[in-house]
Amino acid sequence: MLNIDTQLTTDYLRQMVKIDSVNPGLVEGGTGESKMADWLVKTCQSLGLETRLQEVEPGRPNVIARWPGSGGGKSLLLTGHTDVVGVENMLDDPFDARIEDGCLYGRGSLDMKGGLASILGAVAALKADGFQPAGDLWLGFVVDEEYLSIGTDALVREIKADAAILTEPTDAQLCIAHKGFAWMTLTTLGRAAHGSLYEVGVDAVLHMGRLLKELERLETEVFPARQHPLLGRPSAHASLIKGGLGLSTYPDACTLQVEHRLLPDETPADVMGLWEAAIIRLRTSDPRFQATIKLDFERPGYEIAPDAPIVQTLRTAYQTVTGGEPVTMGMYAWLDSAILGRAGIPTVILGPGGEGAHAAVEYVNLDEVFRCAAVIAEAAVNWLSITPP
Ligand SMILES: [Zn+2]
Repeated sequence: MLNIDTQLTTDYLRQMVKIDSVNPGLVEGGTGESKMADWLVKTCQSLGLETRLQEVEPGRPNVIARWPGSGGGKSLLLTGHTDVVGVENMLDDPFDARIEDGCLYGRGSLDMKGGLASILGAVAALKADGFQPAGDLWLGFVVDEEYLSIGTDALVREIKADAAILTEPTDAQLCIAHKGFAWMTLTTLGRAAHGSLYEVGVDAVLHMGRLLKELERLETEVFPARQHPLLGRPSAHASLIKGGLGLSTYPDACTLQVEHRLLPDETPADVMGLWEAAIIRLRTSDPRFQATIKLDFERPGYEIAPDAPIVQTLRTAYQTVTGGEPVTMGMYAWLDSAILGRAGIPTVILGPGGEGAHAAVEYVNLDEVFRCAAVIAEAAVNWLSITPP
């Protein structure tokens, strides 16, 4: 088993948490990921990796590093995001990176600079051990996961790998499934009229009530019947609603933005179909009812078979490092693994746990940072070496 340098790995993490990389898509005036990218370039170069920037948007680069294999082995991508969410709600200095009781605090410590430290700690251990990979080891540090994931979209245009490990927080367990999501806008159309003219006016807000009732029916009757062993049921909620012109006017339109959370085998077209059927049904029973639906944005869910080679490699590595069995789990939240999976890169999510992603107090458990580094290093040795057919 490889020895993780816990001091070095902690230093990596501390330095990264001290760098402000608030996502500018999410927070107006956010610093962005460029200082993180500069630091990662220096650090990857100091580890002897071929390192370059991939400019995703002006001032927002991914960092791509490669440890070239000697040939004949499978390739592996270790990846995570460099951006963090906003800090305005945080109780303490968000970038002080203080350590208390085995935990390191600060914005991004858990989500997910702890996971990036696990990657760097693993590579440092492999280098110190004199390991020589047969397959290529790729490191991909991407921008913008917390907003639109343009970083991983760009990364998979340039990198192909036989598998990937994404180090988002999983409490150091193996996550093999997560949900997708879809944002859509429903619009009901009425007819504006003076509030006294009930023969003329058609109340678009009232008609939206029928679609809200439909949403409740999906939530209470349709979705509970669909269960995934790791992900529970699909869900949807009313996110934003807008309508009305004035107190004495029939509203001409009302819009409702809805978010659906989808199981890995569900598509936005599936839920769009449910809404379209409801609109037709409501219009049949009342010809004055008029509504449209539009898909605004979507990301698919993700799932990998529990016996897929990269899952097995990580399970064995986990056993070697801890002497125990990992939990294979699902996560409700969406992750970049969906983009990697869609690009044909089988991915497992494994990263250190803690508390407070996006919250007022955020910390990562340092023991889990080291444990994930050890599991990743062990898995990399097995995956990147030539295995007999
Ligand atoms: Zn994250």
